[in-house]
Amino acid sequence: MRVRFWGTRGSIATPGPATNYFGGNTSCVELTTANGDLLILDCGTGAHRLAIELMGKGKKPVTSNILIGHTHWDHIQGFPFFSPAFVKGNSVAIYGPEGSRGSLHDVLAGQMEFTYFPIALNQLPAAISYHELTEGLHTIGDVRVAAQFLHHPAMTLGYRVEADGVAVVYLVDHEPFSGQLWRAGAEPGRIESILHEGDRRHATFMANADLVIHDAQYTPEEYGPKKNWGHSTYEYAVQIAAAAGVRRIALTHHDPSHDDHFVADIERKARELALQRGTGLDVFCAYEGCELVLEPRSMLKRFVAADPLQPAVAQRRFHVLVVDDQTDMLALIVSALEQDQHTVSKASSGPEALRIIDEHMPDLMVLDYKMTEMDGIAVTKALRAKPETQSLPVLMLTAMTDEPSTRAGFEAGVTDYVTKPFSIPQLTARVRACLARSPLP
Ligand SMILES: [Zn+2]
Ligand SMILES: [Zn+2]
Repeated sequence: MRVRFWGTRGSIATPGPATNYFGGNTSCVELTTANGDLLILDCGTGAHRLAIELMGKGKKPVTSNILIGHTHWDHIQGFPFFSPAFVKGNSVAIYGPEGSRGSLHDVLAGQMEFTYFPIALNQLPAAISYHELTEGLHTIGDVRVAAQFLHHPAMTLGYRVEADGVAVVYLVDHEPFSGQLWRAGAEPGRIESILHEGDRRHATFMANADLVIHDAQYTPEEYGPKKNWGHSTYEYAVQIAAAAGVRRIALTHHDPSHDDHFVADIERKARELALQRGTGLDVFCAYEGCELVLEPRSMLKRFVAADPLQPAVAQRRFHVLVVDDQTDMLALIVSALEQDQHTVSKASSGPEALRIIDEHMPDLMVLDYKMTEMDGIAVTKALRAKPETQSLPVLMLTAMTDEPSTRAGFEAGVTDYVTKPFSIPQLTARVRACLARSPLP
């Protein structure tokens, strides 16, 4: 498989002499398989130069598959300049996560409205198809693609692409689920030692990959005030990839404020860290124009999904029960989930929540940890003890960021553990990820 980087910058295109080496275009990576399947990961401004190259080859028709992680601008702004879409006879299949506000087609059409762009999406002559994906396995041409939700304040998919005997995993616009990666007392550097289920799932998704392309927008020093913005540090990316037995990692989504010297420094520090880990992980910072040809190792370990495949859930309206004894917080969460098109009921104590569940089973429960009458752990244990509520998804929402509380949550059987402060888009994305994983009634 051949891999080429056309856009390595996050957030906003940053051209100029200070970013000449690593590049100023936003997210775009080209994958080409031995038998000619073309997969384009994200369609930031880098897609413009890729489009010129595709058209310049003179091959007709051009058949392309664009996999968008999410529809923030730095991942779609190149699409109106993707020239193969302007030629009749070419085909463009666009894939992206379901469950964003509005369909994939509508979001892409929005950035091409007359106010912003002279040609409307529906006027493009190529055959364009739209495919909204959820977690699980998909097939594109001869390529096996696994998708899994990332942690970002928007529905965002990571993609694991398996073809030609190699696996390339694209994990861009993701931040750690927990401030602490390893459980105290456990041997660091192993997937089993990861504290938060979300980070463990993330590590398992990239396990044994030949190449991981990972968000590494920040240094650990920068991360604190930018928590909840949806991006990783190089330290997190390298540690988790090393634990997952990854062969090589490309750090990308470089921050617009980082010039070439700064990114080179990140690369040097990330390599030192990888060396300390001692797993042989090869680290580099992705740069525009970087080209890799991946050869298969003796055997490819194929990804096996943790949950059974779910049909698309975007069309369903879900019933969510929110439980919190603090009136303000309860009102805030209820209003956020209602705006995200869920049917919401509420309870201000554990016993009240259990009564509501007895009468009418919700699809998911958002549950506060610390409550006076019966805390969230006791409520979760009560649910897990009964066959009817054993698999009800529970998203615990709490100010308790410490390790014993996190462990107590997962040991009691919560599905996800979200710590305050959180942002509303982040919470609604976590709720939708839980719903996408939950079995249909
Ligand atoms: Zn981004
Ligand atoms: Zn984003």
